[in-house]
Amino acid sequence: MKGVHILKEGIIWRVGNGEKINIWTDPWIPRGTTRKVVTPKGQNLLRNVSELIDPSTGSWDYELLEQTFWGEDNEIIKSIPVHQDMDDVVAWHFDTRGIFSVRSAYKIHRVNSWMASGRGASSSHGRSDAEEGFWRKLWKLACPGKIKHFLWRLGHNTLAMRTTLSRRGMDLDTRCVVCERLDEDGGHLFCKCKYVKQLWQELNLEHVRLQMAERTSAKEMLRMIWELEEKECILVVTTLWHWWLERNRIRGGEKRRGVGGLAFEIRFHTEEYLKLAASENPKPPMTLRRWTKPGGEVLKINSDGAFDPVTRSGGWGFVIRDSEGTAILSGFRSRCGVTCIRCFPYGSAGMPCRGRGQSSKRSWNAEGDC
Ligand SMILES: [Zn+2]
Repeated sequence: MKGVHILKEGIIWRVGNGEKINIWTDPWIPRGTTRKVVTPKGQNLLRNVSELIDPSTGSWDYELLEQTFWGEDNEIIKSIPVHQDMDDVVAWHFDTRGIFSVRSAYKIHRVNSWMASGRGASSSHGRSDAEEGFWRKLWKLACPGKIKHFLWRLGHNTLAMRTTLSRRGMDLDTRCVVCERLDEDGGHLFCKCKYVKQLWQELNLEHVRLQMAERTSAKEMLRMIWELEEKECILVVTTLWHWWLERNRIRGGEKRRGVGGLAFEIRFHTEEYLKLAASENPKPPMTLRRWTKPGGEVLKINSDGAFDPVTRSGGWGFVIRDSEGTAILSGFRSRCGVTCIRCFPYGSAGMPCRGRGQSSKRSWNAEGDC
């Protein structure tokens, strides 16, 4: 068996009709040391290479290849010729001429038997309830399916990042596509790369970036993001997605764009996703609290304010009414460019949200809903 193991290191399946070759576990990609696909199987139900062949044309089903594989695999698979009228055969990968000696043919035969007998061993992974709950939260996010799919792959460490590809046997430059300085893994690309830091700052999300950078895995990072208030959560996942697109653009040879434009695009899309989600899942109507008159000589001050962290703008206003309900003073103020609710001058008017007091001989009582 030792000889078989040694030989196993050097074999590759030559595709005929693809019926004998397992897409995910067999060596059939003429590349690298493993000669296997680098795309993870994930939840994919495809099993044999024959399923990737379009029976009507006798060639690859290009659309299916595109949907199934990372670009790194897709390009190579497309270049492999298909021979539907032939069986798949095992070959010695390191013989550049593809010619076998009689001695190696015997070994190949043994490998074939070994490959045939080793079939059928598939594993299934049980999932805990907590795990299920974690992913359920992902599918409920107020963002498009493509972003959820991206987050799913991020959480499973199956994005085609350079260090991931290297670990899966591809020989390539592992440096970050964007800065070309340090190795590209999830922590670097999304939290520590000097350019992504600029983007988080531009979006006023440096505090979130710092928290993300502290997490030890992509999944822990997502768990932290799920805990954010909804608007911020959607802004953060949209940022991750757009940064991944940007990284892929740069990898494709395009120039890196300024973070200002990128941040604008991200904010715009976030707003759209939130609006769409709100129209699809309207919130139940709020129970209205009727305004009641203050008694006697007392004045009542009603105030309210709102702040949108996405557009960084907001406003507040107040109205003072007497015991007859007549407004004797009102005012409002709006402001853009504030970074958080704490920077908002809502409280600076010296007006508590709810309280009682005495000023210039008249008593007052204040009401607000915050
Ligand atoms: Zn970088």
